[in-house]
Amino acid sequence: MNAPSSRLSGFHKQSVADRVARVAEFSGLDQADRDLLAGSGHLDLELANRLVENVVGTMNIPLGVATNLRIDGRDYLVPMATEESSVIAAVCNAARQCYDNGGFTTSMSGTQMIAQIQLVEVPDPEHARIRILERRDEIRAICDGCDPVLLKLGGGFRDLEVRVIQSRSGPMVITHIVVDTRDAMGANAVNTMAEKLGPSIAEWTGGRTYLRILTNLADRRLARARCEWRTEDIGGAEVRDGMMIAYHFAEADPYRAATHNKGIMNGVSAVVLATGNDSRAVEAGAHAYASRSGRYTSLTRWEVTREGNLAGVLEFPMAVGLVGGATKAHPMAQVALKMLGVKSAEELARIIAAVGLAQNFAALRALATEGAQRGHMALHAQNIAMMAGARGDEIDAVAKRLVALGKVRVDVAETELAALRAGR
Ligand code: NAD
Repeated sequence: MNAPSSRLSGFHKQSVADRVARVAEFSGLDQADRDLLAGSGHLDLELANRLVENVVGTMNIPLGVATNLRIDGRDYLVPMATEESSVIAAVCNAARQCYDNGGFTTSMSGTQMIAQIQLVEVPDPEHARIRILERRDEIRAICDGCDPVLLKLGGGFRDLEVRVIQSRSGPMVITHIVVDTRDAMGANAVNTMAEKLGPSIAEWTGGRTYLRILTNLADRRLARARCEWRTEDIGGAEVRDGMMIAYHFAEADPYRAATHNKGIMNGVSAVVLATGNDSRAVEAGAHAYASRSGRYTSLTRWEVTREGNLAGVLEFPMAVGLVGGATKAHPMAQVALKMLGVKSAEELARIIAAVGLAQNFAALRALATEGAQRGHMALHAQNIAMMAGARGDEIDAVAKRLVALGKVRVDVAETELAALRAGR
């Protein structure tokens, strides 16, 4: 028999049900698999089909709520969508330990996005750069003309930057348009402007425009959070000093910094996803920002204050919106935003920064004290029990045995499950 072909012509034009039938045939999905695909949960298949291409189902991720968060004097319940155990508990713990000391203070540099226009084949790039800068008023008019809705809401063109960079394809003149996109993440908004502006830049300079797209290094849209944990609230000076040593490791070593920042993004991406925002855009911006000195390092900074408190800050690009993308279209994103009660994209971005800082505190504290695994164990053991085939009440029973044995392993879980089922 011939191997099945992945050339499924007309697949994108088919109904969801017809696509499922073709995928089932290709991959040998049984009726139970097909029933799972058909039950799309809170995201209607027709809506899913409008959000992305070639839809055959939806992927449900647990939605939890982070408690104890006090941010800028207000209490929030923060929705987090994640498949990873311990992430939500970590934020709750970190936030509880600073709640009585006032919680988090946040701010934002603005809601400006940057789009880039790449210009090549210019004989006089330095001259061209100045010629573009001279056209600022025309550029403003072209950009603002693209989006009257944004303009009416107080957004629009804000600034112009032009650089000459050297590349293996020769010199390039890179124009940045800086646009306030208000409550939109703004990718489509600024991309439209950059595309509209492209031909004019080519005409003014005699060069050729190539790429016209936003940068995810949104460094005109920095969210900031800071917080002080009192030493007595976090377990004493030894814990605090251990956390400082753990932080210095991340600051000094990119191998450690990658995992340190991943921990921050555990919380950040969960809120970004829950609110229907673009988690890849935020991840890209965060990691690019962490490398801005030329060496990848920690996104957070930690210090010990004169009073002996542990003080943390987080500052990084946070391009999230309340309109655009899936934020308005996805029904659960709307519920998540309602749960938060945020009034602006800026407020959402600031909350996300506080969650990122809380997450980092929790990870540093766990690593500097009992290690990452102990806190993880209870939920991790449940995952392992499920991997071994445990269902319903068996999951808890097997997980408890694994923790008691100190051996959270699939092979042990299989043995324990077999023993449980045999009534031993
Ligand atoms: P969008 O174009 O759907 O919505 C933005 C528009 O909504 C604005 O241009 C404005 O006209 C209007 N608007 C209405 N009320 C507004 C308000 N209160 N504030 C601001 N604008 C308001 O979406 P977008 O935010 O421009 O783009 C976001 C989407 O782009 C996301 O889905 C993202 O995944 C996607 N995207 C991302 C990248 C990237 O990150 N590299 C690239 C392309 C697309």
